[in-house]
Amino acid sequence: LSPLDKDQLQGLNSIREFLKVRTSYDVLPLSFRLIVLDTELLIKKSLSILIQNSIVSAPLWDSRTARFAGILTSTDFINVIQYYCQFPDEMSKLDQFRLNSLRDIEKAIGAVPIETVSVHPSKPLFEACLRMLKTRARRIPLVDVDSETNKEMVVSVITQYRILKFIAVNNEHNTVLLKKTVLDIGLGTYSKLATARMSDSVLDVIHLMVDQNISCIPIVDGNNRLLNVFEAVDVIPCIKGGIYEELDASVGEALCKRPDESPGIYTCGENDRMDSIFDTIRKSRVHRLIVVDDDNKLKGIISLSDVLKYVLLSGVEDTSNWS
Ligand code: ADP
Repeated sequence: LSPLDKDQLQGLNSIREFLKVRTSYDVLPLSFRLIVLDTELLIKKSLSILIQNSIVSAPLWDSRTARFAGILTSTDFINVIQYYCQFPDEMSKLDQFRLNSLRDIEKAIGAVPIETVSVHPSKPLFEACLRMLKTRARRIPLVDVDSETNKEMVVSVITQYRILKFIAVNNEHNTVLLKKTVLDIGLGTYSKLATARMSDSVLDVIHLMVDQNISCIPIVDGNNRLLNVFEAVDVIPCIKGGIYEELDASVGEALCKRPDESPGIYTCGENDRMDSIFDTIRKSRVHRLIVVDDDNKLKGIISLSDVLKYVLLSGVEDTSNWS
């Protein structure tokens, strides 16, 4: 092993050990708010609640069974949009749909239901991360059982971003060892990138995300230069009016509707090192990095799941006995 490889391995191993001795509870801030939505709520109301509170997802609660009922995310709204495309005659009914119809909508459009995984908050963080990678869930609810009532309760939700940020903030001495470049370790996706143009319609871009099962589409110009990125969460402000006609609007118009606090686009180069990626995660609310060359031409995409997968699993051959 070269000294570079040795350091890299030592850094990764130390981070993995860290994740095994920390729990999801450790990731939570001392004080936080949690907005939980009742499944009896109308879908269109749930949308305004998300927008009013500047959040993009919320755990669901079935008050009839007093049980946790999954998480509402932008994927659900994308499903509703697909439903509307497939059954335009049902449009008038759409306003009456409640959150508990989401599963029927999923079935009607033939979408693969997202597994409603949850983890216990005092289980090792490492397990929560593996669950995320296995199920491709980008966020996992932490569900505990109240010892007095024996009822389930949703404690919080942890996201890939929060976990990576937690790693970055608490492991600076380990992340500095990660001196290999994005190119060295092949981090991210570099071929068959799905892209769109500013003039494409929002609906076209949504279909592209659904077909490829991805959560972002880089928007490029005629020379493949990166202009912006359309993310699954950008769908939320587009359908805020409750009417889905705005989906014919162009991506360019839709991106103008982004809330002011939206974090923006982060880019990096192929020769950037892993430690600088962790610096970015430490300092900014980054949800993915777009790899560009010196001319700002699109080269690749590094999603948070790519980073998490690398940190947890690179160099590990047999993961079959890992729960
Ligand atoms: P995450 O699961 O972190 O939200 P994505 O769903 O965006 O990430 O990405 C899933 C996988 O698809 C990753 O390996 C990522 O590199 C790749 N990917 C993301 N966006 C695109 C795209 N527009 N074209 C091709 N591949 C992509």
